[in-house]
Amino acid sequence: MYDPDLALADPEIHALVRSEERRQAECIRLIPSENYASRAVLEASGTILTNKYSEGYPEKRYYQGQIYIDAIETLAIHRACALFGAEHANVQPYSGSPANLAVYLAFCQPGDVVMGLSLPHGGHLTHGWNVSITGKYFKSVQYSVDPVTHLIDYDAVRALAKEHRPKLLFAGATAYPRQFDFAAFAAIAAEVGARFVADIAHIAGLVAGGAHPSPVPYADVVTTTTHKTLRGPRGGMILCKSAFAKAIDRAVFPGLQGGPHNHTTAAIAVALREASLPAFKVYAEQVVKNAKAMAEEFLAQGLPLISGGTDNHLLLMDVTGCDITGKQAAVALESAGIVLNYNTIPYDPRKPFDPSGIRMGTPAITSRGMREDQARQIARWIGAVLRASADETLLATIRHEVVELCRQFPAPGIVAH
Ligand SMILES: *Cc1c(COP(=O)(O)O)cnc(C)c1O
Repeated sequence: MYDPDLALADPEIHALVRSEERRQAECIRLIPSENYASRAVLEASGTILTNKYSEGYPEKRYYQGQIYIDAIETLAIHRACALFGAEHANVQPYSGSPANLAVYLAFCQPGDVVMGLSLPHGGHLTHGWNVSITGKYFKSVQYSVDPVTHLIDYDAVRALAKEHRPKLLFAGATAYPRQFDFAAFAAIAAEVGARFVADIAHIAGLVAGGAHPSPVPYADVVTTTTHKTLRGPRGGMILCKSAFAKAIDRAVFPGLQGGPHNHTTAAIAVALREASLPAFKVYAEQVVKNAKAMAEEFLAQGLPLISGGTDNHLLLMDVTGCDITGKQAAVALESAGIVLNYNTIPYDPRKPFDPSGIRMGTPAITSRGMREDQARQIARWIGAVLRASADETLLATIRHEVVELCRQFPAPGIVAH
């Protein structure tokens, strides 16, 4: 049977994949939700496991031929429970958003009150934002960060929760540079009879590596992606107390999904093994050290950070003091080889498509082995671009220096070419 490789079968897609590979190798990737998966993770996710249907759960399938699939999913579940100290794990959600949706399905009826951090203040779409199904099918109440400190005000969250008595209380964010007080959220949820859901999509790797406190002892349910700081394949996961295991499993399948993506499950298992090794603890700690080094350098240059700094993997900066917008900054930085997000800042007077801020993080550069010196250098380049974003010569010079730095720190999962 004629079965050519990708380069032969589809030269167009092959060339685009190779180009993207080179882009990932030769630029500084600061998007805080992105990372480099290892070769082992990539290899597992590119296997023939993609050929197999296995609706159901290990030992309880609706299809025959599950001897190896059951072993793979069981390993992934055991590794997830061991790594996070959880009583139960579901590794089937297709990604972070379906993982969250499964939690709504497990605990809520349409129209129930739910509560989460609002999107413009760093929350996620699936925490009840109005354009998401979670804001359309449920009565969503959104909390904000404090207008001065930009920190979560737990007294304000408590007051809002007491007023609206939500069924679900979400903690978690996509653009919050500080740690969460999961015990405080759990206490508020208990006071109002809500289930406490900690969404650690961004920080799962930090939690696994001990660089951020774990919500597992406090939360009824913990949801996460597997492809951000955890460095796995694109996927999702739900951890919960045994008491909720049945409700969560039934919500994922048959409630929301059909057959699990077994190639992804295998790659998640590989990533969980990698995250349990001593080197991953060093990685997680270095992610935070690098973010703090960048923050120090920015503050030394007089560039304002939301909340005044960071204690996780992520920084949020108001760039309007440099007389540019977030989007202009992100575009100029990309031409200098530094890729990050434009992002709203809390109480942003500008529109979301061209907001006041940029968002950046250190998970990917740390996966390449970069440390504080490189983090500070990157922050100096960013500062230079923000102050002279129209200077094409400067952008080109930095672009060259960026490629040089990238050559010194080859990225995991990327074969040199
Ligand atoms: C990334 C993220 C998600 C969604 O994950 P997808 O895989 O993009 O669907 C959910 N919650 C938070 C907090 C996230 O950061």
